[in-house]
Amino acid sequence: MYKSLLAVMLGAGLLLGGMVSEAAAAVKTTFVTIGTGGITGVYYPTGGAIAKIVNAKKAQYGVRATVEATGASVFNINAIMKGDLEFGIAQADRQYQAYNGLAEWAGKPQKKLRAVFALAPEAVTFVAAEDAGIKSLKDAKGKRINIGNPGSGNRQNAIDVFNAVGIDVEKDLHAEGIKAADAPRMVQDDRIDGFFYTVGHPNGNIKEATAGKRKCRIVSITDIEPLLKQFPYYSLTTIDMKNYPEAANANETVQTVGMLATFVTSADVPDDVVYAITKEVFENLESFKKLHPALGSLTRQSMLEGLTAPLHPGAERYYREAGLLK
Ligand code: GLU
Repeated sequence: MYKSLLAVMLGAGLLLGGMVSEAAAAVKTTFVTIGTGGITGVYYPTGGAIAKIVNAKKAQYGVRATVEATGASVFNINAIMKGDLEFGIAQADRQYQAYNGLAEWAGKPQKKLRAVFALAPEAVTFVAAEDAGIKSLKDAKGKRINIGNPGSGNRQNAIDVFNAVGIDVEKDLHAEGIKAADAPRMVQDDRIDGFFYTVGHPNGNIKEATAGKRKCRIVSITDIEPLLKQFPYYSLTTIDMKNYPEAANANETVQTVGMLATFVTSADVPDDVVYAITKEVFENLESFKKLHPALGSLTRQSMLEGLTAPLHPGAERYYREAGLLK
């Protein structure tokens, strides 16, 4: 009996010893969370792609990234500023507004916001049911339109484009504030007539909305010259309708405005962590781009555009090393 107890104790001691030395040898793990958007958008799979690339090198950097579905751009920036998230994806216009104290951050500039890199372009996408007769922004008057949840980037984009054609979303239409992920079903159930989503293409959300029984189109956003003059962060773009063959206007080229999506963090996030993520995404760019079709157009140069908050020093260190910044 004593013998076996001794054996157990010895065994436990060995096990413990083994664990201690193994733990000492391993790199300390830093857990980081990336805020994304709704699961049928592009931010969510993009965040997943970033996490996958950096987690593959966990043994080297000790960084373990996880992804969270969120209310998107505005929510992500606010959560990063509070320290609830380490990273997030946000539209370039929202990054600009947050850092400079505009829109939702009027008078409250977020001076700790830091840019890491830019991602794929996004387009202000206005989906409307055919039976609602909406073929232009002006036709939305009096209709039930989801402009987006308060944490979204698209909410302000919808307000801006409507303002540019003289429509006040408070007075001239029935504006809803639901999450983008719920909007396709709401259109199909005839609970709304259309919705706005600022998003990269192709994506599951617009596929879902345009493939249902209630026929939908993507409405061109035109006559918005005042918007382009007033806000430098919007640029003209088009939506490739080949992605949505079941849309009512699948044969048209849809005109709209857009901006880049960007990857942001806080000045409080350690340099080494930001360096590791930046380096791994840039050095595995070809495999990163294959993780979602909306990422296909990325280049090392395009990923340094649309960044208005100061670069995080960890990202800057990589860009200098790689010769991307002089
Ligand atoms: N651009 C959207 C927003 O910030 C999110 C798009 C997405 O999740 O792909 O509101």
